[in-house]
Amino acid sequence: MACKKDHSKLQEIMSALPTDQGGVGRHKCAACAYEAGYEDGYKLDGSLSIDDVLANLDESQAGAQRHKSPHAAYALGYYHGVCQRINDDN
Ligand SMILES: [Zn+2]
Repeated sequence: MACKKDHSKLQEIMSALPTDQGGVGRHKCAACAYEAGYEDGYKLDGSLSIDDVLANLDESQAGAQRHKSPHAAYALGYYHGVCQRINDDN
């Protein structure tokens, strides 16, 4: 099922991601992958693997996130989540 979430706020970030239709997670929603990474990076929980995360995502929707690498999106979201957490701690 294609993702129906509003990813309008993430279009700029999605545009900067590499296009990747290969490997595990292809056709998954890269914007959702970013959000999941952000949350995991923010919490620094570490209980989920990226494969588990990607398996539970919806398929990609039209827009800047289409055909973008969900792995890169997750990693970038994770990075931003960690930065946000550090900022919140200070
Ligand atoms: Zn999505």
